[in-house]
Amino acid sequence: MKFTLNKEQEAFRQEVIEFLEKELPSVTYDLDRYHMVGGISQEFSRKMAAKNWIGLTWPKEFGGSERGYVDKMILSEQLIRHRAPTGYHFVAERQIGPAIIKFGQQWQKDYFLPRFINAEDNISFCLLFSEPDAGSDLAAIKTTAILEGDSYVINGQKVWSSGAHQADYGWLLARTNPDPSLPGHFASSEMMLDLKTPGITIRPILNIMGEHHFNEVFFDNVRIDKKYLVGKENEGFKQIVAQLDYERAGIERLMQNHLVYERLKGHIRDGDIPAHDPGLAYWAKDAFARIETELNIGRMMCYHTAWMIDNGKRVSSQAALCKAFCSQYEHRLNDVATRVLGASSLIMGEENPYAPWEGLVPQSYLHSPSYTLQGGAVEILKNIVAQRGLKLPRA
Ligand SMILES: Cc1cc2nc3c(=O)[nH]c(=O)nc-3n(C[C@H](O)[C@H](O)[C@H](O)COP(=O)(O)OP(=O)(O)OC[C@H]3O[C@@H](n4cnc5c(N)ncnc54)[C@H](O)[C@@H]3O)c2cc1C
Repeated sequence: MKFTLNKEQEAFRQEVIEFLEKELPSVTYDLDRYHMVGGISQEFSRKMAAKNWIGLTWPKEFGGSERGYVDKMILSEQLIRHRAPTGYHFVAERQIGPAIIKFGQQWQKDYFLPRFINAEDNISFCLLFSEPDAGSDLAAIKTTAILEGDSYVINGQKVWSSGAHQADYGWLLARTNPDPSLPGHFASSEMMLDLKTPGITIRPILNIMGEHHFNEVFFDNVRIDKKYLVGKENEGFKQIVAQLDYERAGIERLMQNHLVYERLKGHIRDGDIPAHDPGLAYWAKDAFARIETELNIGRMMCYHTAWMIDNGKRVSSQAALCKAFCSQYEHRLNDVATRVLGASSLIMGEENPYAPWEGLVPQSYLHSPSYTLQGGAVEILKNIVAQRGLKLPRA
């Protein structure tokens, strides 16, 4: 592995930066300023599509550019640094498209993949995995999808479904074999469903900031054609494990709070710490040096994981390590920012003149607990590293 980009990669990085500097100022979008991948703009996604930058790593036969994961990492890093609104195609490109390419039926490939690549209308997805009693232990799901004739009949409940209120489709994990003696690992399947299908109720859950991001989704005798099954019946669990590696290896886990990093760096560099508190100034520099070190380590880990994928290596353990490290870095970044700003870091409100950095810090700090949970809690990721990576025995 080289620790620098080669000539082509560097040229690609420059091309991405120039594109973003030119296009972003004119794009109108629903800006979610605190979640760098959350801003939604079909207009911007279409501009990316015109550059063939959606599906960058996908095979050419499915409309992709068949480029490497290091290129994808370069693109993602710049998109986040520039706070580009990629929310319109983000989930479809990162998880749904690759899953359809790997496990989908031919009609699913023909229908969905070109629409994803071109950022067409009505193709947004949400993930319907977690349930009230099944999060880390996903095998414990109770939602059932039972085949009756040519249809699956779905009953049950999902929770923490990000963006389900805005999505067109749900990507569902449900038990297709209701026999309770069979572990969920061997009894569950993946399928997609149109969220307007009768029998689906989506209810908002407000997060700690009072924002509507999550939902509960209820299924009451929801009937969908069996053609929406993805992959093989009762093999959904195996499929999801493969999908999660790609979710965990993304650089967004490291950089979704990069604005906090930049503001903190400027604050310490410009000497904005009160002169009467030299101890704080000293501590802040020391703490920021650690943050800077961790950012660089995290970035290397993300690029290394991408390089491993490009070189055909298995990344389960590396991707888990990457996500565990990067999401804890974001915790620490927000912790240091609140300590450096002191009591004023509690003042909320973008428009509030007394709120430092336009109220950025309390927002990011309150979101922090979620970073180490979504996409797999830190303890679970450490278990993966211990068992799959270090081959340690189960406790
Ligand atoms: C911001 C955000 C967005 C999300 N979006 C979605 C979404 O779109 N779709 C979706 O389906 N889900 C989503 N989730 C849910 C997420 O996948 C779950 O929160 C996660 O899997 C953990 O499950 P849980 O919340 O039930 O916690 P639990 O599994 O109950 O875990 C609670 C605590 O116990 C620890 N723990 C559990 N089991 C073990 C073990 N075996 N060993 C050691 N420690 C353990 C965990 O690490 C954690 O600290 C989202 C969550 C967040 C925070």
